[in-house]
Amino acid sequence: MDALMQSAAQRALQYLEKLNSRSVAPAPAALKDLSKLDYALPEGPAPAGEVLSELDDIGSPATTANAGGRYFGFVTGGALPATLAANWLAGAWDQNAFSVLTSPAAVTIENIALGWVLDALDLPEDCGGAFVTGATMANFTALAAARHHVLAAEGWDVDADGLFGAPPITVVVGEEVHPTLLKSLGLLGLGRQRVVKAPVDDQGRIRVDTFPVLTGPTIVCLQAGNVNTGAFDPVGQICGRAHDVGAWVHVDGAFGIWAAAAPERAHLAAGVNQADSWATDGHKWLNVPYDCGIAMVRHSEALRAAMSITAAYLPDEATREPMHYTPEASRRARGIEVWAALRSLGRSGLADLVERNCRLAARFTDAFRTDGITVLNEVVLNQVLVKFGDTGRTKEIIRRVQEDGTCWCGETVWQGHTAMRISVSSWKTTETDVDESVTAILRIVHESR
Ligand SMILES: *Cc1c(COP(=O)(O)O)cnc(C)c1O
Repeated sequence: MDALMQSAAQRALQYLEKLNSRSVAPAPAALKDLSKLDYALPEGPAPAGEVLSELDDIGSPATTANAGGRYFGFVTGGALPATLAANWLAGAWDQNAFSVLTSPAAVTIENIALGWVLDALDLPEDCGGAFVTGATMANFTALAAARHHVLAAEGWDVDADGLFGAPPITVVVGEEVHPTLLKSLGLLGLGRQRVVKAPVDDQGRIRVDTFPVLTGPTIVCLQAGNVNTGAFDPVGQICGRAHDVGAWVHVDGAFGIWAAAAPERAHLAAGVNQADSWATDGHKWLNVPYDCGIAMVRHSEALRAAMSITAAYLPDEATREPMHYTPEASRRARGIEVWAALRSLGRSGLADLVERNCRLAARFTDAFRTDGITVLNEVVLNQVLVKFGDTGRTKEIIRRVQEDGTCWCGETVWQGHTAMRISVSSWKTTETDVDESVTAILRIVHESR
């Protein structure tokens, strides 16, 4: 055991050290080598050391280097040193976080972490919360509470009786809703397509002037941080209207809501805390390892009613029992890494992480604009959309940037324009990383002229 674990730690550290000098996208040869793992189920056991070395030799080179400082795809974040270390230790603990009975330590730490997250995001301290796999499931979890709440107000118990014959719920989303939120609505029987879509402006923000008039049981889904532009819906203004008619307002803040933790960006999230529920990710801007999403619900009894394992409403436990707030029963103790992230950063470190990433996004923007390259969005947060002439040329440059391997940026379509999307969300990214990436991108652009 001892030699094996030392070896695992050594290999992991070597992997991290080498990240800076390798291609961000895995080399084609390394990907081809993955087929070496594709043999029939072994008939008998193998020594653990051999298992580990095979995984490292073949697996490590084939990974995407998103743990390094120059991966700018998909808002992925990195894993802070304290969170990776906590992840290793918690792996050894192997706790089942479903109940105080199975792990008092995991539940206590998770409850503290939830309190710290609510504090950092300026949300009500008595919110119900659930640590889940990601923002998709956090949206699902919070919207299950919303569904319960708006139907309970009509005298309908959806968790007992289902949606058959229930009063219809109007669900409003913005035209720029994240596709995973629509998936959550589908899973909840609310339908991916039966939503009312509110028009948005040129940054993807829901327009207040054309926002629909609300009547009857209604759930409004807003966004804090558009996945392309980083823009925020006017949550405060819409909450005012929605709450007047008893509607529930949910905010998908997968990454953007963390702006609330940085004094220089907090104005973007003004009013977000007036909503009824929020979904966010730990594995994006908080920089904890996968997988980690967090659902937070103002009316914690609605969350409990939707997620409780026994349909009957138990008397309140002395301690929050995770199994009554999450879709899962047995679960890994992902609250531990959230605790470690916030313990190691503190309030100022968290603000600095968010602010630094935003400044680096602006650094990209300045460099592109200086070179006459079009940045499509107002860069208010960590998202930059870059266009290099027409669609064909933009696609070609993105392909070459990915192939070059200095950095990795993805492709998106923003309001009819194909664009390269840059998300800066890792603690590891430095000014040097940005400058080296800009140099590589500009070289590719000039070569293709
Ligand atoms: C990433 C993202 C999601 C989905 O999050 P997962 O953690 O991948 O499930 C939902 N909404 C927004 C705005 C996102 O950026």
